[in-house]
Amino acid sequence: MKLVSYVRDGKRSVGVVSDMEYVIPLDSIAPDMLALIELGDTGLNLVRTLLEEMAEGYALEDVQLLAPIPVPRRNIMCLGKNYAAHAAESQSAWGEALELPQYPIFFTKATTTVNGPFDAIPYDPEVSDKIDYEAELAVIIGRGGRDIAVADALDHVYGYTVMNDISARDLQRSHNQFFKGKSLDGSAPLGPWIVTRDELSDVRSLQITCEVNGVLKQDSNTSLMIFDVPNTVAQLSRGMTLLAGDIIATGTPAGVGFARTPPEFLRPGDVVVCSVEKIGTIKNRIADPA
Ligand code: MG
Repeated sequence: MKLVSYVRDGKRSVGVVSDMEYVIPLDSIAPDMLALIELGDTGLNLVRTLLEEMAEGYALEDVQLLAPIPVPRRNIMCLGKNYAAHAAESQSAWGEALELPQYPIFFTKATTTVNGPFDAIPYDPEVSDKIDYEAELAVIIGRGGRDIAVADALDHVYGYTVMNDISARDLQRSHNQFFKGKSLDGSAPLGPWIVTRDELSDVRSLQITCEVNGVLKQDSNTSLMIFDVPNTVAQLSRGMTLLAGDIIATGTPAGVGFARTPPEFLRPGDVVVCSVEKIGTIKNRIADPA
């Protein structure tokens, strides 16, 4: 199933998208996505029943889609250098030794980075003029847990969505750690929906792409991840409790702007389209400076 957060007539709701692309409101089940996720299988069964009853909905184009989780409870957890070719291009661009991470590189993005799937990305050249794109598969945790075994990890996954891990490369560089350069407001376009795990049981071989102004910049496959989803969930949850609704972005493949020759950065008016096969597409324009 495809679950969305949306606004219609000024009201924020959660809904499910039918095969005919109607958004069926789930107000009778949960007030928002986090509440729905916390209902677990019980909630999903109620949603399934509504779908089977062919409850009435709104045409997809008549609602404003928000990020599926517009206000996460805590920071988005991310992996750095989780595709070998991207690790190599980054290390080469930074002048670092070429080596693959032995352990997942975890960092986070502030909750205020969350942005809608089709909304503009704020741009302020006084803050950063080295804004870059990163198409990623993002995992939504369903049932929380600690010390989750690799074999059990997918049981804790609620579903998947697409994220653009917008990065300010100059801030990433000058502040030495990922957090600041990864946490500018609106730098995590997310969506357009959560595809639940019952619909997408296997994410080990999905095409992942990013286009800028219609030009293909990233074209890879999730099969090339160094740490796959079960491994990532297992390692992240070692001694650290994962919570329902946590968002884990699984890293970007090769082709990012700063590692190109010459480097390329996003400018106002540029349109960035990130897609993951079987999940969906998000499309965001870089805003004019305020
Ligand atoms: Mg990233």
